[in-house]
Amino acid sequence: MAITVDASAETALARTRRARRIVRALGELHPDARIALHFGNPLELLIATVLSAQCTDKKVNEVTPAVFGRYRDAGAYAAADREELEALLRPTGFFRAKANSLIGIGTALAERFGGEVPGRLADLVTLPGVGRKTANVVLGHAFGVPGITVDTHVGRLSRRFALTTETDPVRVESDLAGLIERRDWTIASDRMIFHGRRICHARRPACGACTIARLCPAFGEGPTDPLQAARLVRGDAEAAR
Ligand code: SF4
Repeated sequence: MAITVDASAETALARTRRARRIVRALGELHPDARIALHFGNPLELLIATVLSAQCTDKKVNEVTPAVFGRYRDAGAYAAADREELEALLRPTGFFRAKANSLIGIGTALAERFGGEVPGRLADLVTLPGVGRKTANVVLGHAFGVPGITVDTHVGRLSRRFALTTETDPVRVESDLAGLIERRDWTIASDRMIFHGRRICHARRPACGACTIARLCPAFGEGPTDPLQAARLVRGDAEAAR
């Protein structure tokens, strides 16, 4: 398979078109792309997303049923017994800091937002332990407000696709926002995360098994031999770890 994209010679318009083609092609390749965290309402998604820092979604999903069952609203988190909460969060790592964030979030929601999770980025980022990434996850998946989530996968893939040269997540988000249609921001992030987990790995991307290759200037960064590449592709269970 030949390299077909020379990003250095690409016009801004051509890059925009290619970015949108990539989003569509990723949709065909990963039609099941969606957020992996389990939740039933905006508060649960907010809590699960905070817990997913430095932890796999699979592990968070194992822990959250007990957490959500014990703490059903913002006031419950605000009033949580710290030791009990820490014990529940321990498997997700950094459990003391995460317990702090959850108690702080519960307190802030109860005091400033009537106990409800706000549906605005400017409000969400005022909550303890909540940055733009977490806020965009919540906006996109619990409120239907388009948001680009720049996690490690989205950052890496955006650079491999030559849609940005930035490493700072806020700048990557800004570059992507200028290329991808607003209505696709949330799903584009989900698709890139799926692609990063399954095929376009950090160390050895499975280029020879990648149907986005014709749109990707980084083709060849991983093995291009189809058989060798196929062995690198991860299924759902492996990718979720
Ligand atoms: S796997 Fe290779 S060809 Fe596919 S998106 Fe990643 S770097 Fe590009």
